[in-house]
Amino acid sequence: MEDTHRLAEEIRSTGFTCLMCGGCCSRGDDDGNLVLVSAPEIRAIMDHTGRAWDDIAEPYPDMMPAEGGGEFTLAWCLRRTKTACIFLDKNNRCTIYPARPLICRTYPFAREEGTLSVYACPGIGQNTLCNEAETIAEECIRRDLAEAKDAERTGEVFKTMKLGPDECAVVDSEGVKRIWAK
Ligand code: SF4
Repeated sequence: MEDTHRLAEEIRSTGFTCLMCGGCCSRGDDDGNLVLVSAPEIRAIMDHTGRAWDDIAEPYPDMMPAEGGGEFTLAWCLRRTKTACIFLDKNNRCTIYPARPLICRTYPFAREEGTLSVYACPGIGQNTLCNEAETIAEECIRRDLAEAKDAERTGEVFKTMKLGPDECAVVDSEGVKRIWAK
C-alpha cells in the first residue's frame, strides 16, 4: 500500500494525461511499438472478443537459435495492421479497453526494480488527477508482479523445450508452442 502511494505521488509529480494521440498503439517508423502480451492476457482477450488466439497475437519476431537446432522466441505481441494495433479504431480508441493488456494500462509508466520508469509520450508533464495516479500506480504494481510470475513459469517451461532442427516455437507460461516446421 505504501508502495502504491509512493508510486502514485511520483506519477502525480511527473504529470500525465492521455491525449488520445494513438501514438503508443501505432506502428513506429522503425517497426517498433510491439505490444507484448502474456498467455493469460491473450486468453482474456479471446474471452472478451470471441476471437481465436492467432487472430489476436503473433510471435515476438526476435527468434533465437535453440540448442540442438530449431528456433524459438519467448513472447507474443498483439497483431498489427500496417499502421497500428489491430484493436485501435479510427478515433484512436481501444476496442478492447476492459481487456487490454497491463502494458497498455500502465503506459507510459512502469515499475522496474521498485522504481518508476517513464517512457516517451506527449502526455507526460500534463496534469494528472489524483485517482488516475493511484490507479496507474496500482496497475504498475500488478503488472510488475504478473510479469515476474509469467517469466518464472516461462523459465520452467523453457527447461523442458526440445525442438527438432527444423522446428520453430514460442515458449510461454503455458507451454512450448510449435509455430512451424520445415
Ligand atoms: S490493446 Fe488497445 S491500448 Fe493496447 S495497443 Fe492495442 S489499441 Fe492500444
